Amino acid sequence: MPEPCAYFRGEYMNPKDARIGIMTHAFHYGTATFGGINATWDEENQRFCLFRLKDHYCRQLLACKMLHIQLPYTADEMAHITVEAVRRTGFRQNVYCRPVAYKSTEFIGVKLHDLDADWFVVATVLPPFSTSGGLRCCTSSWTRISDHQIPTHGKICGGYVNGALAKTEAQLAGFDDGIMLTQEGHVSEGAVTNTFVVLKGRLLTPPPSDSILLGMTRDTVMQLTRNELGMETIERSIVRSELYEADEVFFTGTYAGVVPIVEIDRRPVGDGTPGQLTARLQEMYREVAVGRNSRYQHWCTFLKPD
Ligand code: PMP
Repeated sequence: MPEPCAYFRGEYMNPKDARIGIMTHAFHYGTATFGGINATWDEENQRFCLFRLKDHYCRQLLACKMLHIQLPYTADEMAHITVEAVRRTGFRQNVYCRPVAYKSTEFIGVKLHDLDADWFVVATVLPPFSTSGGLRCCTSSWTRISDHQIPTHGKICGGYVNGALAKTEAQLAGFDDGIMLTQEGHVSEGAVTNTFVVLKGRLLTPPPSDSILLGMTRDTVMQLTRNELGMETIERSIVRSELYEADEVFFTGTYAGVVPIVEIDRRPVGDGTPGQLTARLQEMYREVAVGRNSRYQHWCTFLKPD
């Protein structure tokens, strides 16, 4: 029977058997960084495609640097372990990999220095991200954390309370997700997704200085639009009015892919149906992320299970 697989303290095991103590520093203070990596199953070619695996680990190591976490692994070693964990699951369907680097010392006290750190990765299956014709979003009343509060370019666990507040507020009010604004009122991002806006024929996305995570899917979409459509993405601050003026708005993220937003604050985006450019990018991204576009296979780590 296929089952999830964790690499934890030097061994591969079922995640149910991987336990940490209740005094672990990261559990109390969120002093950890996580990642999310797709191993997309290609039924036709009977192989997994782990997308931008090394890039994900380079980003995680930068987040570790921000938290004074020194890991005994290189990006290449973490990539290798991740491939092996996916192989050991025995799944023949999309697998999601969740690496976590965390302050592992069992210690009470708010600080980052003089604490041990460890890293594990879990390969498991998630329910497919449901888009059902596009998302209905609201502008969140929770502003996005600023980079001078918690570094936003790293996926720092403690910072995710911010996204969780926004997501739950949105969903309890009947929306799919909330779009957070920066403290200056610029469009930032969803709980776990970057934002793109199509306005007057131009593709816009918030710049790195508007408290965003530098998403791998964001970067992929920017490269695809440049190379395949000859269209530059303009990184500039976006204001709330522009969400209402936009012809198309979409989110990007590893779990979500490219997802159209069809309504914001009970106003239709464009004509209220997924936009043409969004649909095109969604399809292009799917092909690239499963490893079927030969021009982008340098982003793909293939795994053919035995
Ligand atoms: N923003 C936040 C806050 C996220 O957690 C994520 C998910 N990693 C994203 C954006 C999208 O990033 P990526 O495309 O690398 O998954």
